[in-house]
Amino acid sequence: MTEFDGKVALVTGAASGIGRKTAQFFARDGARVVVTDVDEGGGNETVDMIKDEGGEAFFVRTDVSKPEDCEAMVKKAIEKYERLDYACNNAGIPGEENTTADYTIEGWQRLISVNLSGVFYCMKYEILEMLKANGGAIVNMASILGRVGFATAPAYVTAKHGVVGLTQNAAIEYGQHGLRVNAVGPGFIHTPMISELEEDEETFNMLKSLHPIGRLGKPEEVAELVIWLCSDRASFVTGSYYPVDGGYLAR
Ligand code: NAP
Repeated sequence: MTEFDGKVALVTGAASGIGRKTAQFFARDGARVVVTDVDEGGGNETVDMIKDEGGEAFFVRTDVSKPEDCEAMVKKAIEKYERLDYACNNAGIPGEENTTADYTIEGWQRLISVNLSGVFYCMKYEILEMLKANGGAIVNMASILGRVGFATAPAYVTAKHGVVGLTQNAAIEYGQHGLRVNAVGPGFIHTPMISELEEDEETFNMLKSLHPIGRLGKPEEVAELVIWLCSDRASFVTGSYYPVDGGYLAR
């Protein structure tokens, strides 16, 4: 008997990085997993990895910036597994690097549509299903940049602060319906999202130095927190923002 036996978990952006590890850990702990992403090849690879490890999963191609995709994603999850207990709204993009006055309008709109509106669309449809099953748990992927600013990332910082606000709001709205909603704030984590930054040694060393632990994080170190927040061990935790950042925010 494992922790999530009989339960169903959905993870967006699960073709890569933190989302893939989170999907694998949900399956490791007994959940059937709905793996979703825009990247079909990577998403199917995650499903294969889960099945190779003895788990159960299927892939639904979803662009979270499109509300109709998010609605269809939840519908397909219910058609396949007949319930939804947990969701990790993780899909995100880094966006362009520019200071506020130079940031392009198109870049701003794109980033907000994926990293902020995408989380809202997913929650909207996930919550309706979770309420039918008398509750569940949602974890939204924010960032350390959901708490503080970062020069040259105005849209990303705004979106992640918004994700924290959405999280708190939904926690208040649905706390009495058995639904817990929390946000996670990773520091810089080794994933394809930041691989470009890691190519330059000077930048890489600067990034490491921002974390008192002296290194970047690993996707599994974030995934473990998501799993804990969804588990019954976190039954009194809702509306919170949990950094997993090697001490970045402690400075
Ligand atoms: P990643 O390895 O790039 O994975 C993100 C996944 O999301 C990719 O498979 C990506 O597909 C997918 N995606 C992008 N746009 C999408 C859309 N519109 N709809 C559905 N899927 C989409 O990145 P990661 O580092 O694991 O990041 C996961 C989350 O953690 C993001 O929300 C990110 O902001 C957050 N985060 C990351 C870090 C970090 O340092 N890595 C730190 C703090 C927070 P494509 O590859 O095809 O774009």
